[in-house]
Amino acid sequence: MKKRIVAYKPLPDDVMAWLREHAEVVEVDAARHDAFVAALKEADGAIGASVKITPAMLEGATKLKVLSTISVGFDNFDVADLTRRGIVLANTPDVLTESTADTVFALILASARRVVELADFVKAGQWQRSIGAEHYGVDVQGKTLGIVGLGRIGGAVARRAALGFNMRVLYTNRSPNEHAEKTFGARRVQLAELLAQSDFVCLQVPLTKETHHLIGAAELKAMKKSAILINASRGQTVDEAALIDALKAGTIHGAGLDVFEREPVAADSPLLSMNNVVALPHIGSATHETRHAMARCAAENLVAALDGSLASNIVNREVLKP
Ligand code: NAP
Repeated sequence: MKKRIVAYKPLPDDVMAWLREHAEVVEVDAARHDAFVAALKEADGAIGASVKITPAMLEGATKLKVLSTISVGFDNFDVADLTRRGIVLANTPDVLTESTADTVFALILASARRVVELADFVKAGQWQRSIGAEHYGVDVQGKTLGIVGLGRIGGAVARRAALGFNMRVLYTNRSPNEHAEKTFGARRVQLAELLAQSDFVCLQVPLTKETHHLIGAAELKAMKKSAILINASRGQTVDEAALIDALKAGTIHGAGLDVFEREPVAADSPLLSMNNVVALPHIGSATHETRHAMARCAAENLVAALDGSLASNIVNREVLKP
């Protein structure tokens, strides 16, 4: 008998067709909370993204064996609880690494060179004479980039920085990234040194209890006044109220943000009225090619996990231990 899968995010047609070859698929709008929870109770697996799945939502979902998230980050799940319930959590690393690193670099360049602000200036018809120093940006090439969390995406950012922009790369990780050290000359330092020396501080850590508000008022104060903070990890890694204060007070020069503490960010957030903030709507991996690859990867993870053959992309491998 075919396994039953809940799809709680729209999938590309070809991915959906492929999934239907392998399972009975029930499409549910996760915004209809009760219907979603009821569907999980009848399901063997589920695929989706961008929705918090709490332990309470899984009460009574006794058949559920696999949750497949269309993302590399898995902060929407209580992993320990899933493990206790014997539910495999699968994610989609690697396929989104390069496009997310491109987004990070877009934020670095846009923030440093005031691309969004000055494009708006031209469109508003304000370019009426040759621009002067009041519109100059700051250089990116040759500067120091501090990466907080140099893993897959951080590594792809380091490669762009070191090889493409001749930048010095500093990083913090709990364990050394020898590949990045050898290949890009990245140097592992304490967070305090990274903050004090970097012209761009770029967050690429997963959101965990340890990384929640990793950057707060004290860390912002420890940065150079001329530095720019780039966040394309998760909004909650930065204390947003402290960031707003720091930007208002000129404690740091600017910020490039793909993520926010609450998403979508409120239209009246002070961040959105600051010229020295570039704000994006969480587009790290949002290209046609990458979003398709992520959906396909998550679908394959789900089907393989249901038949017991999934070997990689498993967040809680302990579940598989006898
Ligand atoms: P990854 O390969 O696991 O890299 C994460 C890095 O963070 C690792 O090098 C890890 O090294 C380090 N780290 C983890 N906990 C840390 C801590 N407490 N203190 C310091 N460093 C820590 O993950 P990835 O694939 O690069 O993805 C990183 C994150 O990017 C995801 O979790 C996700 O939240 C975010 N993301 C955002 C978007 C977007 O659309 N904006 C897209 C994709 C991913 P150690 O284990 O040695 O500490």
